Amino acid sequence: MRVTFGEIDKSGSRFSVEKGEWSDLDETGVSIQDIKIAEVVARSRDAESIDLTGKLAATVRMGCARCGEPVDCIIDEEFYYLVTMQEESIAGITEKECSNEECDILYLREPVVDIDEIFREQLFLAVPQKVLCSSDCSGICPDCGLPKNSAECNCSEDRTNSPFAILKTLKKD
Ligand SMILES: [Zn+2]
Ligand SMILES: [Zn+2]
Repeated sequence: MRVTFGEIDKSGSRFSVEKGEWSDLDETGVSIQDIKIAEVVARSRDAESIDLTGKLAATVRMGCARCGEPVDCIIDEEFYYLVTMQEESIAGITEKECSNEECDILYLREPVVDIDEIFREQLFLAVPQKVLCSSDCSGICPDCGLPKNSAECNCSEDRTNSPFAILKTLKKD
């Protein structure tokens, strides 16, 4: 969704986006299960700048870093952008308006902001690097290739009971 600065009110205009191309993370092995909120409120600051406050809440599914079983993660982020065409004043703005690191400055050449692009970036930042199905996930069985936590793996317990088994799990972190 592309929004021109002219469409944005001083008192705030609300825009929300649906699941779409921006939320396609298949390449990274992450799939979006549900998007609860993907919404921004834009406020015009002056003819060349807007404030953008947003919320992104979603459920994403990704593989456990040890065993590969799918795990659902909840994403719940709030973010703030200062969107501006005033390149020369960016240094000043950074100090005055963006004293906290949560604030991003988005510099545009034309007064059109691509809301989908903002959500794509936020989603990318919000997805965890890796997840575990449980903190004590024991990974893949070297004998049968199935998750050791699963009922299907009936391989000998001897290996896991050996005094070296603990070293193995430590290494995986
Ligand atoms: Zn696991
Ligand atoms: Zn096994």
